[in-house]
Amino acid sequence: MAAYSIVLSQKDFVHRDSLAYPFEERGLQFGDGVYEVIRIYQGSYYLLKEHVDRLFRSAEAIKLSLPFTKEEVTQLLVELLEKNDMENDGKVYLQATRGSVKRDHHFPEGIEANFYAYAEDLPRNKVALQEGVKTLTTRDVRWENCYIKSLNLLPNVMAKQEAKEQGCFEAILHIDGLVTECSSSNIYLIKDGKIYTFPATKRILHGCVRMRVEEFAHKLNIPFVEEAFTLEDIETADELFLTSSTTEIMPIVEVDGKQVSDGSPGPLTKQLHAAYEDDAKITAEDRVTQMA
Ligand code: PLP
Repeated sequence: MAAYSIVLSQKDFVHRDSLAYPFEERGLQFGDGVYEVIRIYQGSYYLLKEHVDRLFRSAEAIKLSLPFTKEEVTQLLVELLEKNDMENDGKVYLQATRGSVKRDHHFPEGIEANFYAYAEDLPRNKVALQEGVKTLTTRDVRWENCYIKSLNLLPNVMAKQEAKEQGCFEAILHIDGLVTECSSSNIYLIKDGKIYTFPATKRILHGCVRMRVEEFAHKLNIPFVEEAFTLEDIETADELFLTSSTTEIMPIVEVDGKQVSDGSPGPLTKQLHAAYEDDAKITAEDRVTQMA
């Protein structure tokens, strides 16, 4: 079934071709808004509550008043899938902006936020999940409030493009050698049976999958240490992986042209991914991770 024909615009569902952005829109002109990307497996949301909660946290952080309650957003997002007859693996992108109004830096008064969401198919990247991906490192030149999922993504876009041009899947960001996260994912290093990752401060996005990885680690008795690791630490890492709603728990097998450990996905990464597939209720025939 073709997805993404019906989009949510404010409180109405309309055909995507009938949607026209006004010329003056604060999301377009200032990046003045927030967004979410939510994973769908076989027509059902994964981590919906976590994403809706974060949407409201991001909106509050930029003093954006959303036109809905959390319950209303959740209900509308469920309806969006129904209206699209969504049965496949996919994603929903949604964004809220500070409205359509004459361009002026000040917050507009009496203008309601714009809210859009659409669903589309997104197959799982099974080959990459099995084989792992290549990455490069680059400076983290973003602002200090990366915990806000804001529409201002130019540094992320530049880093991701740099990665693509070098034949890499992702760009690992660092501040003076301390690894923060990737251009559109969180990152973790495994050394001597422990998982290390940058603490959930304002410097990184608090990933919904990251929250789950912490839980999986506890269940599997793998210490989860919120301590930044360095570019140097990568050279002696046992395993490295990244996470996001669209990429799941993805092994990293190369950084800046050098293999991570023996250059293949490591055992703890596979265990964590198996826990993810359980949690997301991925069916046996769709699984990537072979259980031992
Ligand atoms: N970090 C950044 C910069 C991201 O853009 C994303 C996802 O888009 C993530 C981390 C992972 O977040 P989540 O697990 O909620 O998808």
